[in-house]
Amino acid sequence: MKDAAGLVRPEIRALEGYHVPPAEGLVKLDAMENPYALPPELAAEMGERLAAVAINRYPHPGAPGLKARLREAFSIPAALELVLGNGSDEVLQIIALALARPGATVLSVEPAFAMFRLGAVAVGLRYAGVDLRADFTLDEAAVMEAIARHQPALTWIAYPNNPTGNLFPREAILRIVAASPGLVAVDEAYFPFAGGATLLPEVGRHPNLVLVRTVSKLGLAGLRLGFAIAPPDWAREFEKLRLPYNVNVLSAAAADLVLSRREVLDRQTERIVEERARLEAALDALPRVQRFPSSANFVLARLPDAPGAFEGLRGRGILVRNLHGSHKLLSNCLRFTIGTPEENTRLVAALTDILA
Ligand code: PMP
Repeated sequence: MKDAAGLVRPEIRALEGYHVPPAEGLVKLDAMENPYALPPELAAEMGERLAAVAINRYPHPGAPGLKARLREAFSIPAALELVLGNGSDEVLQIIALALARPGATVLSVEPAFAMFRLGAVAVGLRYAGVDLRADFTLDEAAVMEAIARHQPALTWIAYPNNPTGNLFPREAILRIVAASPGLVAVDEAYFPFAGGATLLPEVGRHPNLVLVRTVSKLGLAGLRLGFAIAPPDWAREFEKLRLPYNVNVLSAAAADLVLSRREVLDRQTERIVEERARLEAALDALPRVQRFPSSANFVLARLPDAPGAFEGLRGRGILVRNLHGSHKLLSNCLRFTIGTPEENTRLVAALTDILA
């Protein structure tokens, strides 16, 4: 059979692709986007900047200007290298590619970011997931046991974790790094909301630790820009797998401009963190809702009937993420991205209505 069913690897055919539901006309609280637009003056300045970009030319392959901007914006030490991706999704893929060899395993905790598994399977790696505890804390002993059993080539930890929102203990992650025969990649996509929690000072102190960051959650999701922060030996190998012009000239110019006005994004981030506290308090006041602690720009909660509540919210014009059915620990869980104050107020009113 020369059709796709006959020729595509069975594990690829068995995958469910990354699902993005339609959101037209809905208040979009499903994808951990920053809800705020750029201030009009900055948007106008961006228009001028982008108009001057030479789109007839390929991007500079090394993107030195953008890397310098990222180093400055995120205080990245000179001894570490950056590897840019078309979103951190692509960085995840590059890292998996670098570690792919026949029979090797990628390890992660579950539930975690779906791309850890998808990215592994796509490049022919085996995947092993270790369940978190029922309260979504890290079961360190179970992770250690899985490391001993699978000898993973690559272990993914999101810090804070998605979709749970919590931070695992930093010391436990460092013990996992020490016990791992392979690379440990810590995904800090939600770093802006984590009150400064980061493993950045540890990168370079361990031969097998790299970090992944993104500008998406900061307010630039549409630009598609993520990056690995890695010791030079890892960065050199990742660079060979990065497609030569993966970050386009418009994204690079736009990111460079907005990151030069970091305070705009920082103010938006502060508002999101304030709103997170307000949403958490409002969820805690609702009957029969179990709310989990978050260090990210979203809040996970368990409701009596999550699928029903999800539909009820959609019927009221609000799109959230229904996690019921995606993992056994997530039964009746919804994930709410923090929106603007008006959006969050609308969410709470709708939930109050649904739960009444
Ligand atoms: N890592 C984690 C933990 C995420 O939750 C996400 C997005 N949902 C990403 C990486 C990917 O982000 P992006 O590709 O937009 O950088």
